Amino acid sequence: MKTNLLKCPLCHQPLIFNHQWSCGQHHFDEAKEGYVNLCVPPIKGDDAFLVQAREQFFSTNPYQPLMIEMKKWILPNDVVLDVGCGIGAYLKYFKTQDHTLTTLGCDGSKLAIKKAAKHDSLSHYVVANMNNLPYIDHHIDVIISVFAPYDIKEITRVLKPKGRFILITPSTHHLVELKKIIYDEVKLNPSHHPRLDLTCIENQIVSFTMNLNQSSLLSLFQMTPYVYKSPNDAIEKIKSHQSLDVTASFVLQVYQT
Ligand SMILES: [Zn+2]
Repeated sequence: MKTNLLKCPLCHQPLIFNHQWSCGQHHFDEAKEGYVNLCVPPIKGDDAFLVQAREQFFSTNPYQPLMIEMKKWILPNDVVLDVGCGIGAYLKYFKTQDHTLTTLGCDGSKLAIKKAAKHDSLSHYVVANMNNLPYIDHHIDVIISVFAPYDIKEITRVLKPKGRFILITPSTHHLVELKKIIYDEVKLNPSHHPRLDLTCIENQIVSFTMNLNQSSLLSLFQMTPYVYKSPNDAIEKIKSHQSLDVTASFVLQVYQT
């Protein structure tokens, strides 16, 4: 699905599609999956290992209770942008629930965007730098950020007046049972209190239990930062569990411009 909300990452003029995306001066080819790479210069995004883990984990949609809570802040006909959208799991869910939405996703990982575009042809995906969002000013109703880096100046620039920014961060007990398997001593996640120059209109904890099989547990582990700082036997420890009840716990904050 094409969008008329893109701008050139180099000269910041609107991009128009006519066989390729162009501002008149710069040209960007559309990939066969339907996404466009507007990340200039390219950055190192999530690699194939992480993208594959995400794809496996989200195939059973274990974060659906979180998606349901987020969806309550999205209204019919809204333009929704996911910054750091990964494989597009959230946008695909929102668009399936409400076809009146316009759903846009961007991420620094070309591999992730390629998957997103392949799985979700009803949303529009671009490879982009989060510090130079390739969208024109003040046309987005809702921006979501789930465990992803964001640039609040860019978010404020692209949101409409009274636009909403839905920020999802891990709460203290997120995945605590998984950590108990891996580490002898478990440290809870630190609380996240961003100081944003926006009005906070919601601040809640969304918690639920996921019963995960071994393959989902391994994918989840590979998606987390623990994979880089775990004892070598972590994978073996996880494999000793056929399934496990794991707490998913998120801080859901909504900010308004
Ligand atoms: Zn240009």
